[in-house]
Amino acid sequence: MPAYEYICDNCHHFFSVRISYEHYGNQPVVCPQCGNAMVTRHIGKVRMSHSDDARMQLFSELADARKMEGVDENPVEIGRMMRRMSRESGAEMGEQFNEVVDRLEHGQTSADIENDLPEPD
Ligand SMILES: [Zn+2]
Repeated sequence: MPAYEYICDNCHHFFSVRISYEHYGNQPVVCPQCGNAMVTRHIGKVRMSHSDDARMQLFSELADARKMEGVDENPVEIGRMMRRMSRESGAEMGEQFNEVVDRLEHGQTSADIENDLPEPD
């Protein structure tokens, strides 16, 4: 399960929460210090040392990309965006990332691709 880092908008407490991919984005996150639900996701440096981390990073990129694109998902656009992001970050995203981008660029939806990939956890 990936850990997401947050900063509380109220008391600025920095904390991390483990959220399964399934729940990420629709599970409320509450500050453990003051109980405030207004928190901001802290996007840290991508850790690529562990293959599971890389995979979970990939899943959250997909989720974020889908939110940015809205309901009318255009896989080709998302694929291009992800390829551009990986080029700009200079990080080696690995075989699976390239495969996902490739599938997106051929018009597969991120939901289809997620179903094909092995379950995280
Ligand atoms: Zn707080």
